[in-house]
This record gives sequence, C-alpha cells and structure tokens, in this order.
Amino acid sequence: MNQPQPSSLALAERLGVTAALVHIAQRTQISPNVVELVLSGASALGGEPGNDIMVLISEVGEAPARRRYSVRSCDPLTDTLRLWISTGHDGPGSRWAQNASLGSTVDVVGPRGKITLDPLADWYLFVGDTTGLASFYRMAESIEVPGQAIFIVELDDMADALTTSFNPGLGVTGIFVERQGREHHDPSGLLRGLSAFDFPPHQGQAYVFAEFNVMKAVEMTLRDRGLPPEHIATKAFYRTGRANAANGEPERD
Ligand SMILES: Cc1cc2nc3c(=O)[nH]c(=O)nc-3n(C[C@H](O)[C@H](O)[C@H](O)COP(=O)(O)OP(=O)(O)OC[C@H]3O[C@@H](n4cnc5c(N)ncnc54)[C@H](O)[C@@H]3O)c2cc1C
Repeated sequence: MNQPQPSSLALAERLGVTAALVHIAQRTQISPNVVELVLSGASALGGEPGNDIMVLISEVGEAPARRRYSVRSCDPLTDTLRLWISTGHDGPGSRWAQNASLGSTVDVVGPRGKITLDPLADWYLFVGDTTGLASFYRMAESIEVPGQAIFIVELDDMADALTTSFNPGLGVTGIFVERQGREHHDPSGLLRGLSAFDFPPHQGQAYVFAEFNVMKAVEMTLRDRGLPPEHIATKAFYRTGRANAANGEPERD
C-alpha cells in the first residue's frame, strides 16, 4: 500500500482535508485503559485543538471501519502526532490501538471536527470520560492565561486519571469520578460530579464529549443550571451497545 484507499482520497477531497498514509512510531500503555500511539508522517493532519483524525481499520474478514480519535498533540518538528485511545471495551478501534505492529501503515483522513476552543470565555468546563481526555487537555493547553479550566471526568479505574501540566497562570480544577461498575450510558456519576461544582462568575464555555446518553443528560443539566445553549458544545463519541457507524460517529436515532 503506497497510497491511501480511493475511498479515503474521495472523502478527503469532499471534506477539503488530507488523506495520508502514516506509520505507528510508538505505543505506550499510559494507564490501565488508555494507550498512547505516536503516528509519524502525520503532523499535516494535526489541525487545531479540538480536531481529530479518522483512521481506516481493516481487519481480516471484516468490512473496513473508520474510527475517529482526537489529536492529543502535534509536533511539526518531528512530523508526529499523538493519540490517546481508550481500550477498556472490545471493537476494531480498540483492538487496532492495542495490537497494530510498530511501523505498520495507517490510512488516515484529517483534520476533522468543527468544535474548537472559543477564545472569548472566562472559564472552560470539560465533561466526559477517558475518550475526551486527549481533546480536553489539548484544548485547555491553548487557553490564554489568566483563564480557568475545570475537568469533570468519569473513569473506569482511578489509575486512568491522567494529568498534564498547563501554562502557569491557568487555574485548573480536576474532578475525577470513579465509575464503580455503573454502565457507560449511566450519567449519574458525572451529574454528581457536576453538582459538586459551582459555576465561576462571568462567561463560561462547556465542552461535553461523551457517551451518547451521558452527553444528552449533561447538556440538559448545564442548560437547567443556566449555561446558555450557545455556550455548550457537545459531541457524542460512542453509544453503549452499538458500534460506531461508517463515518466514525455513533448513530443518532
Ligand atoms: C470526534 C470524535 C473524537 C473521538 N476521540 C477519541 C479519542 O481521542 N480517544 C478515544 O478513545 N476515543 C475517541 N472517540 C471515541 C471512539 O471513536 C469510539 O469509542 C469508537 O466507538 C471506538 O471504536 P471501536 O472500534 O473500538 O468500538 P466500536 O466498534 O465502535 O464499538 C464496539 C462496542 O464497544 C462500545 N464502545 C465503544 N467505545 C467505547 C468506549 N470508549 N467505552 C466503552 N464502550 C465503548 C460500543 O458501545 C460497542 O458496544 C472519538 C469519537 C469521535 C466521534
């Protein structure tokens, strides 16, 4: 394979982005349920904080599947980008992240995604689970100081509470909620985490990247608490009991 698949080239052309063949340069198990992959030859697809790439996963005997993963960081100097991939479930994406050989070729399309950081907010609230961490941290790293970032993140295992360092001058609050065996579509853990948090004064902007039902419940709660809808950006990342669709997103019906 020395060219992206024709379907990837056509998709990239339609979206006005890039299709490329990149390579897996490094894999690190950074927590019990999160694998970090470094892709080489990929920095042109890094886009802005909040963007993701679409990976084409071809398993023997299965129809190829596209899966979307947010860019954790992008380094033009080494021409690499990093992904943080949750692997606590079984699916083509999770298997690929854990098993694809180092050096293997990956067909990717990107950058993708319309949700990026609103530079004008006074405080930023990020709500979701480990699938949102890459995007949340990359977006928060681009907040101008002084500013405030609050993370409310549900974890299967408290050892998945990955942290990072931010600009000095950024106020950071992290509320990690242990799932304690609740289903992934049960919003009660995150809603409890949210109720423990008083909105700071002035204009806030929320980003909710989560399981389909959880995202909807968190969005409703934020609205009920008075955050204007135009300041709540949401994206369903997966949906319990259903594989993501061919476009890499969960079905909405
Ligand atoms: C724009 C966008 C950006 C994303 N960024 C990231 C990212 O940076 N990191 C990341 O890990 N994920 C990210 N996701 C989510 C990821 O694409 C989905 O979790 C995807 O379903 C994984 O594909 P799969 O082939 O492993 O599982 P699928 O074949 O889609 O699903 C198989 C089964 O596993 C379940 N499932 C899928 N994902 C999860 C999960 N995370 N936890 C529990 N059960 C699950 C499904 O309900 C289904 O029953 C993103 C999604 C979108 C739309």
